[in-house]
Amino acid sequence: MNSEVYLDTVVIGSGILGLSIAYYISKKFPNMTIAVLEKNPTFGVETSSRNSEVIHAGIYYKKNSLKAKYCKLGKEMIYDICKKNSIQFNKCGKFIVINNDEQYSNLIQIKENAFYNDVDLKYLDKNEMSNIENLSHFNGALWSSETGDLPPIL
Ligand SMILES: Cc1cc2nc3c(=O)[nH]c(=O)nc-3n(C[C@H](O)[C@H](O)[C@H](O)COP(=O)(O)OP(=O)(O)OC[C@H]3O[C@@H](n4cnc5c(N)ncnc54)[C@H](O)[C@@H]3O)c2cc1C
Repeated sequence: MNSEVYLDTVVIGSGILGLSIAYYISKKFPNMTIAVLEKNPTFGVETSSRNSEVIHAGIYYKKNSLKAKYCKLGKEMIYDICKKNSIQFNKCGKFIVINNDEQYSNLIQIKENAFYNDVDLKYLDKNEMSNIENLSHFNGALWSSETGDLPPIL
């Protein structure tokens, strides 16, 4: 018996990236034979299923970097895919807070970087923070309305 298998493509690792790449290739080239090799007994049991499940807005990446570009694009795609497929998501936003006035310049730097990455952050001063439950003791914050998360899959 001939046990040789001819494969066009081998993807090593079945985390989110390996599976996405294999899926994309299979859609684009339906006649290709593809194998995904995984060292664990099943797929997706390492970093991809152990992360914080935050949908990042793309605030911190260096301007003009591919990470900045694809974080923003990926975020929009995740929200879109969730909506189209009735997958629960929580566009809850995120506060980046400061404890004292010396940290104000850090907020400005973050806001500037986010601006170049086309991510809108709103600055809230101490006065505005004082009206927000549980956050009234902070000296200021940036509000990222685009950040979200996915509820855990049980
Ligand atoms: C603590 C933490 C929190 C994070 N939080 C977030 C978050 O909130 N939001 C977000 O967007 N991103 C987050 N990330 C980043 C995100 O989880 C990763 O970028 C993503 O999961 C990477 O996917 P991957 O497929 O490259 O890697 P993995 O999921 O690690 O998959 C790699 C696979 O390759 C397999 N493998 C490795 N070597 C071999 C080999 N030689 N032969 C066969 N198989 C092999 C592994 O077993 C594994 O299954 C977080 C990362 C960490 C570490």
